[in-house]
This record gives sequence, structure tokens and C-alpha cells, in this order.
Amino acid sequence: MGSNSESNGSAGIKIPKIQFTKLFINGQFVDSISGKTFETKDPRNEEVITVVAEGDKDDIDSAVKAARTALDSGAWPRMSGYERGRIMMKYADLIEEHAEELAILDTIDGGKVFSICKNIDIPHTVHLLRYYAGAADKIHGETLKLLGEFQGYTLKEPLGVIGHIIPWNFPSTLFFVKVSPALAAGCTMIVKPAEQTPLSALYYAHLAKQAGIPDGVLNVVTGFGSTAGAALCSHMDVDKVSFTGSTEVGRLVMEAAAKSNLKHVSLELGGKTPLIIFDDADLDMAVNLSQNAAFFNKGEICVAGSRVYVQEGIYDAFVEKSVEMAKSRVVGDPFNSEVHQGPQIDKKQFEKVLKYIEYGKNEGATLLTGGKTCGDKGYFIEPTIFADVNENMKIGKDEIFGPVLSLMKFKTIEEAIEKANATRYGLAAGIITNNLNIAHRVSRSVQAGTIWINCFFVFDPSCPFGGYKMSGFGKDQGLDAIEKYLNVKSIITPIYSSPWL
Ligand code: ADP
Repeated sequence: MGSNSESNGSAGIKIPKIQFTKLFINGQFVDSISGKTFETKDPRNEEVITVVAEGDKDDIDSAVKAARTALDSGAWPRMSGYERGRIMMKYADLIEEHAEELAILDTIDGGKVFSICKNIDIPHTVHLLRYYAGAADKIHGETLKLLGEFQGYTLKEPLGVIGHIIPWNFPSTLFFVKVSPALAAGCTMIVKPAEQTPLSALYYAHLAKQAGIPDGVLNVVTGFGSTAGAALCSHMDVDKVSFTGSTEVGRLVMEAAAKSNLKHVSLELGGKTPLIIFDDADLDMAVNLSQNAAFFNKGEICVAGSRVYVQEGIYDAFVEKSVEMAKSRVVGDPFNSEVHQGPQIDKKQFEKVLKYIEYGKNEGATLLTGGKTCGDKGYFIEPTIFADVNENMKIGKDEIFGPVLSLMKFKTIEEAIEKANATRYGLAAGIITNNLNIAHRVSRSVQAGTIWINCFFVFDPSCPFGGYKMSGFGKDQGLDAIEKYLNVKSIITPIYSSPWL
């Protein structure tokens, strides 16, 4: 357990003593087999929050063994869906009770705005758990009348031992996007949180035990991607890896799966989301939505609306208002209720975003506002807007994962559709217009897994989420996400018509 004591955060918020810093395997908090630990840092000030057990291949082996035993002979896959659902409901209640503490952990570990964590991220995790808890007793197969004298039925069985690999930008929500449907399906699992944000995941492990989830069902191994994460992907006894992260690492995950036991893989990867704003849009609403789309969570979100296409009739007015609004966004301590934007997650990402800002300047885009760092410590970057960007520039085609918005002008619907699709990604797109025909025409033509019309970032557990093209495959959320964690077995038997049977 952590050794640092309770301390005062900013804005009068007390940062509680960090309680959980060890690996959670088979229902126990344990040191890593090597005894190694790593530091997790506060991106507000670059200070070490605490040290956390560094899991590696041997720890993954031990977690997979626990998950396999819980699958092969434990209660979780064998109990009724109704019972699993009740335990998941209790788990959700416990998270709700500890919402403030969990939000603090994600704020200090991830630099996320505290009030958003507390009022959006954590309630969304609770919602996810309850949604899939309600679905756990509605998993059933079909009865089939086959050719001739045969009948069949299908059984839906837990897929097996699942590896969930989670990124750092939404440590709580993405934990439960993955874990909730897998729990409902009766699977057992190992979660590998991102090395930048291990703290809330370990807290969730503790609450899982309190809720009554049997030992071995939900294991959490903290550690690095190239060691613990890679070991999970190449493990011969893991049946599926469900991954959210970068496209580059997604490729490694698939390769490892192919080279080991051909485990199932689902990938939710990067994006370069276009937001298309037509002349008839309400200007204030459009500017507001576009800033939220590009700057929410400091741009560290795979669906960030980083390419904003504005029709020529409102372009100039849009630019003027956008610059004004970006300048008024407050960057600073995410515990402060006045602040819109906290620090980037770590030094590597901070430097990457600054590098992209330099690329933008050098490639001929016009920097309208921002582009600089803020403060003398921590990883703060000004909300940045470029104009005159095109899809061949690095800032127009790569996922930056920072508060950088690129503005582009267009004339016709056809041009907007073509430009929106000029990307290898296809996670989401946004459209702002009051013209229903335009909205639906563009929705059908843009290649992306989610289309938001006159809104942005609307997520709901019932709404499938995932990519087209190189943004990945295998939807998260929605009822169908449970199918990712199920195997379908066909059972066939004759029905004899002979009179003596
Ligand atoms: P980002 O670029 O957003 O940091 P990554 O794709 O690098 O995203 O990381 C997302 C998750 O993938 C993290 O939990 C990280 O530890 C893990 N990861 C990184 N490299 C690998 C790898 N080679 N194999 C498996 N997991 C990895």
C-alpha cells in the first residue's frame, strides 16, 4: 500500500492517502515477483505521487493462472446471469459511494478536470456497470429447426480469459467500457492499465472484491506496455485481448495475437475526427461545440474534433469568434473550478504536441492563437488554433492528442465529404447544420463509426462505439458488445419420427 499521507490539494480539496499500489492477483494485493516498482507522477507539477508495483511477464503468468482457474472451476461463469448482475449492481453502488476519491485519483494521475471526472467520468462508469448488469440475465441462444429430422439450439458461453489494455486518457470510463460487458458474459480477466494512470484501476480492484466478485475473476496488473502489456498479448492462455490505444500499438497487439494462439482481438484506435459546419449553422453554437470538440480533456481523446471544416459563407466570422473564445479558455490547476483545461498527461506527450505545433508553423499553416506552454512547471499548453491547414500536412493528418484545432474552409457538400474522408482514420465525425437533408446525406457519406449531428461527445452505454478504417474494429458499448465476450456453441440432435421412440 502507498506510504504517502493525506495532503491538501488545491481549491480546498484534500487528496487522500493513496491506499492501493500493488498488483491485484487472485483477490490479493501483492508485490511484483521481481520486487520492482515504478513512479506515477502528477502532471500538474511533475512530482511523484507514489510508487506502484511494476508487473512483468511472470506477474502476467500468475494473473492468467488465477483467471484460468476462476474460469475453469470458479463460481462466476457458473452462477446465473441474475446473480452476476446483482453483484455488478453492488459494485456500481460502491463506486458511486467513492466517486469523489476516485475522481481525485484520476485528476492527480491524469491531469483531468476534477469536476468533469466527478460529474461525468465516474457516473458514466457506474452507468456502464448497471447497463451491463441489467443485461447479464438476458444472454441466451436460439432454438433451430434444422433440415431433416434434426433440431439444434445454441448456447452462449463465456469466451474465456480476457486481457483488457487501457489507455491513460479516460482511466475510469475505459476500464468499465471493457470490464462491464466481459463480467456480464461470465468471463474472467486481467486488466493492464496505462503506466501513466494506474491508481484508480487498483482502487476498482479493491471495490470489486468488496462487491463480492470472486477471487481470480478480475485481476489488475500495473506495469509498462512493452513488458506487461506485450506479455498479455502473446500469452498462450489468454483467449482475447480488448485494446484501446494508439494505432501503432494496435498493430503490435494483432501481431502478437497472430504469432501466439490466434486469440481474438478487438481494437479501438486513433482518430482524426472531422467536424463539418455549414453556412446555416447558429454561429455561437457552432463555435462553442467546435472548441469543446477540439479542447475537451486537453485534446487527449481519440474522437477529438481536431479538423474543423467551415463553409465559406460563415468562415471569417467563425474564425474571429473562435480565436476570441480560445483566448478566454482558462488553463491551469484542474482542481480549480474556473479552469477548463489541465496539463497534458506527461513529458512525452507534452513534447509531442509542441513538436506538432512547430510542424504546423513550418508546413505553412497560419497560427491564429496559442502555440505556447503555460506556467513554469507541469505540462500545460495553450489552446491552439491553426488556419490554412490541409490534409497533407502533419497537423492535418496525424492524431496529435493535444489542444490543437485545425480550421479549413470549404465550398460545397461534395468537397466537405471528400475532405472529411481524406484520412486513414474513421472513428467519428460531427456535422452542424439545420438542414435535415444535408445532415443525413453527409452522415451516410462520411466513413466513421459515430456521427454526431448538432452535438458532440455524446456517449451512452447503449450506443455502440468503435472505428471504421484504421481506427479499429470490434465495437465497445451497446448490447452487442457482450457478444465480443461470448462463444456460440451449436448443439444438434435428431428427433426421430419412428413410432417406437
Ligand atoms: P498512447 O500512445 O495513447 O500512450 P499506447 O497505445 O501507447 O497509447 O498505450 C495504450 C495502452 O497500451 C497502455 O496501457 C500501454 O501500456 C499499452 N501498450 C503499449 N505498448 C504495448 C505493447 N507493445 N503491447 C501491449 N500493450 C502495450
